[in-house]
Amino acid sequence: MAELEVGFVEDCAPALLTAPNLPTKFGGRPAWLNFEQLPTKEQLTCTCGATLRFLFQVYSGGLYKGDQNYHRCVFVFVCPNASTCNNPGRQGGFRAFRQTLPRQNKYFHEVSDATDDASGTFKQLPDVRLCYACGMPASKSCSRCHKRHYCSRDHQRWHWLHGHKDECTADCTGYADLVSVEPAEFLFPERLLVLEPIKTNTGDSDDDDDDDDDETLDGLDDDDDTTTKKKHDDDDDDDDDDDDMHSELQQIAKENPNLAPVAANTSTEFDKMIKKFRKALADEPDQVLRYQQGGKPLWIGSRVPEEHDISPCPTCGAMREFEFELLPQILPTVEVSTTAADFGVLAVYTCPNSCDTANTDALEEIVWHNPVTRNSTEPLSS
Ligand SMILES: [Zn+2]
Ligand SMILES: [Zn+2]
Ligand SMILES: [Zn+2]
Ligand SMILES: [Zn+2]
Repeated sequence: MAELEVGFVEDCAPALLTAPNLPTKFGGRPAWLNFEQLPTKEQLTCTCGATLRFLFQVYSGGLYKGDQNYHRCVFVFVCPNASTCNNPGRQGGFRAFRQTLPRQNKYFHEVSDATDDASGTFKQLPDVRLCYACGMPASKSCSRCHKRHYCSRDHQRWHWLHGHKDECTADCTGYADLVSVEPAEFLFPERLLVLEPIKTNTGDSDDDDDDDDDETLDGLDDDDDTTTKKKHDDDDDDDDDDDDMHSELQQIAKENPNLAPVAANTSTEFDKMIKKFRKALADEPDQVLRYQQGGKPLWIGSRVPEEHDISPCPTCGAMREFEFELLPQILPTVEVSTTAADFGVLAVYTCPNSCDTANTDALEEIVWHNPVTRNSTEPLSS
C-alpha cells in the first residue's frame, strides 16, 4: 500500500492549470492528457440523459508500472441534475475515466528536453475538436471561421457573447489559447489541488482506536446502524472534538439541503465513523483530497460499498482498488453552490495495473458516492 497523500486547494495562475502542466485540479475545463482517448458522447451522458459536467482530475504519472503509465490522469464528472440524480453508491450521477500516455508521446515534452520555456506548452497541438466553452469533445463548429468548436448550441452562443464575436474574423489560433477564454458560469470554479505526503504523529495508523474496523470495501459490519448498540468508546475526552465535527457536518448538511441531517450524540457505528473522519482530518484540517493507491477510503456516511459493488477491471480482470477520494470540504472551499453540486465523499476505485488497452476510448473506472447520512437505507431527498 502506497503512502497516503492529502491534497489542498491552492490559488495559481490559470495558465498553470492547462493540459501541458499536467495538473491535479478541481473545476474549469478538463485538462485532457490523451487527446486520442477522450470519453465518448455516450460515456459523458448520464443515465438520466443529461450531459455530465467536469468536476476534478487527479494526475498520477509515475505511480503505476509500465511505460504506458508514464503519464496518467483520472477525470471525474458529475451529472448536472445533482438533486434528482445524485443517487448514492456506484456511478449515481458521478463517473470517472482514466487516460494514460507513454513517456514518448506527441503532445508533451519529455522532462529532459523541457526548458522553462517549453514547460507549460504543447510539443504539438492536439488535433482534436474541443468545445471552446467547456473543453469537452465537440461536434459543432463556428460556421464563419470553422476554427472554433462547440459541444452544443448553448456553448456556441455563450462563446459568441464572450469573445468570439470579436475574434471570429481575425486569426483564430488553435487549442492553446483556450486559457484566454474567460471562465464560464457553467464551469465549476477552477483551483489547483496540491498533493503532499501526510505528516502523521508517531506512526500511529488510521485504525488505532477501533477494534473492529478493518474495513476494506464494506466498511461497516452491520448495515442496520440504528439497531447496532455499541458501547461507548474509550475516548470520551474527545467529546469537544466530536461536537466540533458534528457542527461541521451540520454545516455541510445545511449547505447540502439534499443530504440527510446529522443527529448529534448518538452512539452508533455512524458516530464511530464520524469520529474516525474527524480524527483523520485533525492533522491536516484543510485537506480536500486523499490519495492512496490500494489504501482505505475514509467515509463520512453509512453508505459504503460491499465487495460486490466494486467490479473488477473489465480489461484485465484485476480487482479494482481504492485510489483517491474527494472530500465534501472542497465545496465551501471553492465556493461551489450546492445547487450546482452536492456530494459527500467521492471515492474512486481503479484498475491496480492501470492496464493498457487497444481500445481508444477513455477507460471508465468506478466512483462510489458516500453521502453525509447516518442511515444506510434512508433516502437522500424526499
Ligand atoms: Zn443524471
Ligand atoms: Zn461545451
Ligand atoms: Zn468563428
Ligand atoms: Zn485492468
